[in-house]
Amino acid sequence: MSDRQYHVDGDLVPVDEATVSVRDRGFMYGDAVFETLRAYGGEVFRWAAHAERLANSAAAISLDHGLTHDELQRRIAETLRANDLRDAYVKLSITRGVQPGKLTPGTDVDPTVVIQVKPLPRGGVAADPIWDAPATLQTVKTRRIPDAALPSRAKTHNYLNGILARLELRVSDADEAVMLDGDGHLAEGATSNLFFVDGEALCTPSLDGPVLPGITREEVIDIAGEEGIPVNEGSFTLDDLRGAEEAFVTNTTWEVRPVESVDGIDVGGGPLTTLFQRVYDARVEREFYDGERL
Ligand code: PLP
Repeated sequence: MSDRQYHVDGDLVPVDEATVSVRDRGFMYGDAVFETLRAYGGEVFRWAAHAERLANSAAAISLDHGLTHDELQRRIAETLRANDLRDAYVKLSITRGVQPGKLTPGTDVDPTVVIQVKPLPRGGVAADPIWDAPATLQTVKTRRIPDAALPSRAKTHNYLNGILARLELRVSDADEAVMLDGDGHLAEGATSNLFFVDGEALCTPSLDGPVLPGITREEVIDIAGEEGIPVNEGSFTLDDLRGAEEAFVTNTTWEVRPVESVDGIDVGGGPLTTLFQRVYDARVEREFYDGERL
């Protein structure tokens, strides 16, 4: 039995007693929004950006949960403290709760708010990263749902699109799926954003396509600006990625993860990938650990 505690609807509860109703719309329909966050040294990385994306997700599905960013942040801090966790994975979910009858936007009064945490030791290039090897990528048949059907900027519990993509990896045992949009252009990974190097430039599919605005993606683009590396946010083909000099994928848990191959074709990391890893790592060290390990 775990002695971990989750935060459920305002209270800390032992994991084994943390439950939601079977009538909760998050359970029944995936009618919920969430954020996957990472705490370093007891503090959440880029909370403001996560809070803003959560607000955008909620707005996209007309979910009025009524909780302020400060209150959500307070609950996360309380959960980390209660579990004596400093370096942690944090998942914050807000569902539309139990709401029988017709849905009328603006009338959500009883959301379910759940915060789950687990230890996630500090990785980065200074220590061992969380992943055990650079990622192998495989293009999947499952296409990224078009924005006109489900806005990709909304991070909702309705994650079957990515789950179907990941299920296709069972044969090749690849680490991450490459999802294309309806027109066959690169979109994103099942749970990550795609980057590759073309000449001097760092390329990544633009947010005009069905791509989640990743917090790590934003950080990498910011680092590129600081380092004077041109960024090309555009529309790309699979051949662009397969023929790239270097590639990497990003998300909150992996941070910057080099790509080893795409569909069995060697791509490999390289000097720019290493640079992004090191600068990302240095930012974390400086901001959350007072540069102790720099
Ligand atoms: N794209 C998808 C579909 C995701 O699920 C995720 C993260 O889970 C990302 C991209 C990366 O986002 P972030 O860097 O905010 O973790």
